[in-house]
Amino acid sequence: MAAPFRTVPWNGHVGAVSFTFDDAYETQFLNLKPLLDAMPDVHVTFFLTGFQDRLTKNAEGFAALANSGNEIGNHTLSHWRLPEETDDELEVEITDFADTIEAALAKYGADVNIVSFATPGCENGENIKKVIQKRHMINRDCGFDGRNKWDVEPDWMSLKAKIWSRTDVTVNEMLNALDTAAFIGTFNNTNPLEPQITEGTWLVVLQHDVSERTIDYLSINPDDIKRLFERAVKNKLWIAPLGTVAAYQRAHFIIENATMDKIDNGYSVKWKIPHERMPKSVPLRIQIDTTRVSSKTTLEQDGKKLTPESDGSYIIEFMSQSLIMRNTGNIPLPKAKPKKAIASYSKFTLYDLRGKKLGATNGFSVPKDYPKGIYIIRAEAEKLPAITKKVAK
Ligand SMILES: [Zn+2]
Repeated sequence: MAAPFRTVPWNGHVGAVSFTFDDAYETQFLNLKPLLDAMPDVHVTFFLTGFQDRLTKNAEGFAALANSGNEIGNHTLSHWRLPEETDDELEVEITDFADTIEAALAKYGADVNIVSFATPGCENGENIKKVIQKRHMINRDCGFDGRNKWDVEPDWMSLKAKIWSRTDVTVNEMLNALDTAAFIGTFNNTNPLEPQITEGTWLVVLQHDVSERTIDYLSINPDDIKRLFERAVKNKLWIAPLGTVAAYQRAHFIIENATMDKIDNGYSVKWKIPHERMPKSVPLRIQIDTTRVSSKTTLEQDGKKLTPESDGSYIIEFMSQSLIMRNTGNIPLPKAKPKKAIASYSKFTLYDLRGKKLGATNGFSVPKDYPKGIYIIRAEAEKLPAITKKVAK
């Protein structure tokens, strides 16, 4: 029986954004730290590498960034191409280097717990994923629009990110992406053959150097990154490090399937953590389902009664792996399951190969009066994701 509560999406925000900064550039603490210090709602992730001795040279600056609430992640010792490395080399690059970063920053007073990884050049593979997975609960790759939906569990070992570059992306495009993540705008005129925007999402952004150097196409001007942060704040997105949002979303997929045992006047709810390398604390915002339990239900965790937030939600500690619900009343046993109606597609639309809409059709077949050729048919239904198929006639 599923637990009678649900996780509040994106910690109570309409969407989320994680800004990530790769390659351990000195400019990230010289130029970016002052901006971050002035914006208490913005916390980001830095993926460090030992390439060109950058970890040692810049450890003090990154320790300061860690101590002001930003995340430190692992981006390999040498920043070499991972698919060219042997298993032993992968261990050194990925597993050992995570410990090296923690030790290097500890020397400057930062207590860093690495849970996030990012592949150099986004070069990944099944073998590489296995090594990453042993020491990290999330890996960021790159590509696509960098957007993730709340109820779709991503590949935690290959999360996509939207890449900034001076040559390929404009600041306006990045601002638009932040609007899309916050579900601001009109999206019902989107080309039906592209992914539809139906809700707020988690946008992951990939940045490198933060300076006015135009010689490096991956650099972003400090003024421009400031504009992106300000738009994210204005859009009321949850602006949190990659590992923070990933842990929150991973917890969502676990806790709603927690096991429940009847106890005196309530239930004991228990769950397992999904990965041994999680942040030490994962505060999770949940809403009690009062259609299933009494509205007088109270929650206890680690021996303490929890106080609800002003909106009635509770912030629980996911890493405690259990909670007690009291005064629930009796949860009605689930009725014998009515046979699940099989959802089926009800609307079929015919397109030519260029995406031009031709009209309605019946199932995945092209109506008789159309000429021979290749067509695209898009099927839609209320409860199912839309699908498209190429159909020959
Ligand atoms: Zn890199």
